[in-house]
Amino acid sequence: MSPIRPWHAEAWRRFSAALARGQLAHGLLLHGEGGLHKHALARTMAAALLCGARGDDGQACGRCRGCVLLVAGNHPDLVEVMPVDSAQIKVDQIRELSERLSKRPQIAQVQVAVIEPAERMNVAAANALLKTLEEPAGDTYLILVSDRLGRLPATIRSRCQRIGLTGTTTAVDAAALARASGCDPGQAALALAVAGGDPELAEALLAPGAWAEWTGLREQLTDIARGRLPAVVFAQSAAKAAGPLLARWSRLLALAVRGQHTGDAAWDAFVGLTSAREMSSLLPFVTQLESSRAMLGSGVREDLMLADLARRWQALFAP
Ligand SMILES: [Zn+2]
Repeated sequence: MSPIRPWHAEAWRRFSAALARGQLAHGLLLHGEGGLHKHALARTMAAALLCGARGDDGQACGRCRGCVLLVAGNHPDLVEVMPVDSAQIKVDQIRELSERLSKRPQIAQVQVAVIEPAERMNVAAANALLKTLEEPAGDTYLILVSDRLGRLPATIRSRCQRIGLTGTTTAVDAAALARASGCDPGQAALALAVAGGDPELAEALLAPGAWAEWTGLREQLTDIARGRLPAVVFAQSAAKAAGPLLARWSRLLALAVRGQHTGDAAWDAFVGLTSAREMSSLLPFVTQLESSRAMLGSGVREDLMLADLARRWQALFAP
């Protein structure tokens, strides 16, 4: 099936060894800041659990009936739970999941549920999941995927076996990224630096058209900070795509908070916007931005939300 990416190797080794020994926990928590292709790894794990003829490397065979159905998106023993028409995973979705998992698998030996992003479960949903995690049926596995471990209730975290992933910014990765994305190694190294070492985000940055969107937002945020772009004008221009824009803004804030220089003058100027003086007010702003993101899709006026955030952003840098 899909190749194991270099930054997944250690996690995969632990997973497949535990599976081979019959010691895999029924609740798994796959976590790491940023993308890191966690979704792909969760799918590879689910495929291995559902396959009837795993290879020596622990991976799914790719040929059995289960594997074929999985690739076609039709495997009856795989349940994927994600936010549907709101930013949250709701209690009804978890109840429906528990109901399904209480039945026998249909074609595989086990049933697998992937919950992603797990931190988007609201309180009621998390409480409902606890019951399933506390008394898992022997033939069910739950894979929780999370960017933000700290936002998951401790009760959930403590009932799962954690599999952590971290990014890396080695020259080898930059070279591999350059080959995969068809760009030059310098551009790949810069994308990795801007992405804080997250290869999934770096790949997204290098996708056609994406780089211009990121640099565009970086310039707009710099202009707002310096009083050259009014908050309302920014909000009007951006309101049609508030979700992706807030996701990018969040990652740019992470770059500023890390204070990590990239070796590129324009990007380093953005990182340099936030001195030690602003840092204490930057962190509450991060919280504000994340709670705004969580409200997307709940009927909130997105242009007003963006204008409010832009005003707060500007106020951080007011003399
Ligand atoms: Zn198979």
